[in-house]
Amino acid sequence: MDFIPFFNYPVLFKEHQKEFTDIFVDVGSRGAYILQRDLDEFEDSLRQFLNVKYAYGVADGTSAIILGLKAAGIGDGDEVIMPSHTYIATAGALQFVGGKAVLADIGPDNMLDPDDIEHRITSKTKAINPVQINGRTCDMDRLRVIAQKHGLQIIEDAAQGLGALYKGQAAGTFGSFGTFSFYPAKLLGCFGDGGAVVSNDDKIGEMLGFLRDHGRNKEGRVVTWGINSRLDNLQAAILNFKLKHYRSDMERRREIARQYDAAFRDMAEITVPVGPDSDPDRYDVYQNYEMAADNRDQLKDFLREECGVGSIIQWAGTPVHQFNELGFDQQDLPKTDAFFKRCLMLPMNTSLSEEQVQHVIASVKRFYSNAARH
Ligand SMILES: *Cc1c(COP(=O)(O)O)cnc(C)c1O
Repeated sequence: MDFIPFFNYPVLFKEHQKEFTDIFVDVGSRGAYILQRDLDEFEDSLRQFLNVKYAYGVADGTSAIILGLKAAGIGDGDEVIMPSHTYIATAGALQFVGGKAVLADIGPDNMLDPDDIEHRITSKTKAINPVQINGRTCDMDRLRVIAQKHGLQIIEDAAQGLGALYKGQAAGTFGSFGTFSFYPAKLLGCFGDGGAVVSNDDKIGEMLGFLRDHGRNKEGRVVTWGINSRLDNLQAAILNFKLKHYRSDMERRREIARQYDAAFRDMAEITVPVGPDSDPDRYDVYQNYEMAADNRDQLKDFLREECGVGSIIQWAGTPVHQFNELGFDQQDLPKTDAFFKRCLMLPMNTSLSEEQVQHVIASVKRFYSNAARH
């Protein structure tokens, strides 16, 4: 069997090469590059898909957070509580607007732990920032109770959570604003950088529309300071096409997760993520299949060298608080530290064939049965 890369861009392109090429030709022939109807259509579709009032396509998932923070009035000296198990962008965007990331630990499902938040709240705390990581949602009911009790906003990094549901409500729509990334390897990936920011709040929603286009309103009049962070119309056209298939994409990911779960959940060496059918409150969409595994580094090498299977350690193995150069003095995140000694992500995307999924499963099992023999 050919090498199974962790993510296979060429296969996903070739699968719909004709449709993509038609889109390039169509957009090019219309010369429709910036703020054109494909972007309007995509924003409409996204609003409907998420059941949210405002949605804007922006340059990328990181600028989406920066714009959201600006619109929500979070900046200078404000503290925001977020998990350390997140992409550096969540913390970086906040620091960039003058705020301070206060990192919290993960709970048993590897999501922001509601029990590790309240003791981190100070007079400067402005918001709680759940990250809907790996296509799963945090315990939004408990986070809402804590936020209300302390008068804090909820702001959501849903870069990895498009389409994930918590009690029927879409990730990204719980707080003042929510953000998404369309980075090529994300759930809904475009052909370069792209992102979106959404809100149900009229003031924030209207402001987001100005901020991503130099502070201009629909008539082109500058009404506030802004910046250029527009999603390219060509990317929007691609995303429009992909969003039409997205429901079946989510189902396919859940099916792969179901197979990994059935194969690994009874193995002593592996701690599986929450399975797709085990939590009636959630619809998880498995941006990643992130498990924890004994002898993780040897397993990773074995998969690559002996079995031709690519795997990845998220954030290249470094949660935010472990970037010493950034000066975090917080080192009280024992569950995150423990998880990062064992975490590993197996291939999880719609390019995988049934045969490839079975090969990944057999390879992981082979590693541990070899280990038992020696
Ligand atoms: C990918 C990602 C981002 C940033 O998105 P970009 O589009 O790459 O800027 C932010 N947060 C999380 C959790 C992500 O996974």
